Amino acid sequence: MSAILLNPGPVTLSQRVREAMLSADLCHREPEFASLQSAIRRKLIDVYNLEETTWAAGLLTGSGTAAVEAMISTLVPGDGKLLSIENGVYGERISKIAEQYGIPLAVANFEWTAPIDVAQIDRQLGEDQTITHLAVIHHETTTGRLNDLSALLEVCQHRNVKVLLDGVSSFGAEDIPFEYENLIACAATANKCLHGVPGTAFVMVRRDALDQVHPRNLYLNLKSYVDAQDNNGTPFTQSVQTFYALDEALNELNDEGGQPARLSLYRQRMSEIRTVLTGLGIKPLLDAQDCSAVLHAYHLPTNCDYAKLHDALKAAGFIIYAGQGEFAKSLFRISMMGQISSDDIARLAAAFTATLS
Ligand SMILES: *Cc1c(COP(=O)(O)O)cnc(C)c1O
Repeated sequence: MSAILLNPGPVTLSQRVREAMLSADLCHREPEFASLQSAIRRKLIDVYNLEETTWAAGLLTGSGTAAVEAMISTLVPGDGKLLSIENGVYGERISKIAEQYGIPLAVANFEWTAPIDVAQIDRQLGEDQTITHLAVIHHETTTGRLNDLSALLEVCQHRNVKVLLDGVSSFGAEDIPFEYENLIACAATANKCLHGVPGTAFVMVRRDALDQVHPRNLYLNLKSYVDAQDNNGTPFTQSVQTFYALDEALNELNDEGGQPARLSLYRQRMSEIRTVLTGLGIKPLLDAQDCSAVLHAYHLPTNCDYAKLHDALKAAGFIIYAGQGEFAKSLFRISMMGQISSDDIARLAAAFTATLS
């Protein structure tokens, strides 16, 4: 039996998603592929009950970063300026993407353990009125913090600033306030909360935002994907097998009660394990109310380094995840995405107890 993946993607697959990849070989220029692609785009719109006339899904072949890069490099206009909010690795990555393309950039940097100070963002937007767009991570996977979007979107609406969201590790599970008209795009991927396989990523984008794009590269031109896909085509070869997997993963999500049901399932799994760990004296990095349902980070106990904990849990059939950057040696992280049963949770609790007590 292969190990249960508790890293933040790729996830442990269900059998039905795995088997979907064995479907017929397809040419990406044939109608059979076009209907698979259209079905996925429709189902992605339905995850958050969006309107197909207002929103479009641009599907591309690549990891989550490809979708984030497509969003940033296409949607900030030539005369625009981006404010990038950093409170972890992924916010800092968006700043790097903007720098790579020479997009005029302002940064709002916070401690990795700190929430976004919305009043500071408001001041920053007031002081630099050339800022047109703001980029923010929804679930900052570095720490497990779920950044509060509503207050931020309010401030941006008031300042007439459009928001580009990295929803890579939240789309499919966490609530996302798509009703804000200044939230114009959300980048995400198949292989996190949607339980598909790595290889397909996508951007949900407001159709009217595609009227004023400024593509800065060829392969990640988001508009070219949406335009081609609206016409049953694709600019380049797509990863057909991962499309099959995503389509089946979306069917599975729907069968299991959709995004709200997934959110409560993750919450339940997470609180069970958090209770076990805190009972063993392990300290969480953040208060429960600040955490996503997707991933929590914990301080390593003084008597057990990461390698020892990782190896003991791997021997018991679970892959946990290390901290990143400044947290590489002090934290471990556990994600609750993927095909995980209540039996698995009980075995995981027992493995933690055996290793740490
Ligand atoms: C996983 C992740 C990404 C993308 O990472 P890839 O390795 O390119 O899939 C981007 N942003 C966040 C918040 C993530 O968790």
